[in-house]
Amino acid sequence: MFNDTVAFAGHSRNGRQQVGGSELSDPDLFWDRDAIVRWLQVSGAEQDLLFAAARSAREQVYGRRVIVRGLVEVTNLCRVNCEFCPMRRDNTKQNTIFQLTPDQILEVVSEIKAAGINIVFFQAGEVGKTTRLVGDLIPEIQTRFESPVELLLCLGNKTDAEYEFLKKQGATSYILKHETSDPDLNERMRHSSFEERMRCLRTLVRLGFKVGTGAIVGLPGQSVESLADDLELARDIGAHMVSASPFIPAPDTPLAGYPAGDVELTLNFIAIARLMNPSWLIPSVSALERRQGGGQLNGLAAGANVLTVNFTPQLEQEKYLIYGKDRYVVRNDHVTQIVRQAGLERAHSVFAA
Ligand code: SF4
Repeated sequence: MFNDTVAFAGHSRNGRQQVGGSELSDPDLFWDRDAIVRWLQVSGAEQDLLFAAARSAREQVYGRRVIVRGLVEVTNLCRVNCEFCPMRRDNTKQNTIFQLTPDQILEVVSEIKAAGINIVFFQAGEVGKTTRLVGDLIPEIQTRFESPVELLLCLGNKTDAEYEFLKKQGATSYILKHETSDPDLNERMRHSSFEERMRCLRTLVRLGFKVGTGAIVGLPGQSVESLADDLELARDIGAHMVSASPFIPAPDTPLAGYPAGDVELTLNFIAIARLMNPSWLIPSVSALERRQGGGQLNGLAAGANVLTVNFTPQLEQEKYLIYGKDRYVVRNDHVTQIVRQAGLERAHSVFAA
């Protein structure tokens, strides 16, 4: 369990008095861009103070609850060509492509329900066919749950009409990570229009989705100032969920030879996000565990409050190469264990209806 009392009182773990920690109790602190940039870079005792303040802010809104999602990866096909992703369009020919059938999806949904999880999280590469494949199943899934369920989608850019269809079918929430708010870097990394991405995000907010966005930390050419922009973008667009993932240099991508993203910077991003908006859902992502054993527990220590269990069938899981073949696949018992280690409790969706 984290030692909040000592650190939040203005002392580091080793008991030394710190300068600057008291400003963290100012709820308006992170309206100041200089403060965001400065706190993004803290380490040692100042970082302890930041994390303790973030945990305290989380506790005031969520108590000890950690929201647990059940993930199903629908297809690894993708029309986008992100420099950092092994599922990029240029790799389509060399990758073994899969697409779950409706029956397979419903089977996975039953497993999620049996595990006591009421968030069904559909993730896929960006292809048009997921709109109908997932959308047509939503009413059936709601019926099978017989109790409030959140249908969370992460299916990429779509037209307004497609988002409207998904909302009408009963989708609750949608994650569309902006990845980086630096427009030039974004277009260099994604080979896709940043403005179009923002249009999609604004449409999702307008349609009443609970909306998530997020950034990759440590992309080649990214600055700390640009990470401050990422946080401000999430706030300004009216997001309900925000994530930060350390950049993983994946094999079979143009960025394979670049250094990985800094875990400490990612954790600082999470903690500042928590203090900017204590109500945000902030995941402790599998990429943290992939970068460093215990990484997801560290994410909870920095103020995150969401964990995602992967229920994709084993054979297809191995083909979903989001960080390459040796990604960290999060199991249910791993989530139970780190939630317990953190002195927290597994919890249901806050958006389910
Ligand atoms: S990150 Fe997403 S959109 Fe980009 S190539 Fe990979 S699956 Fe496609």
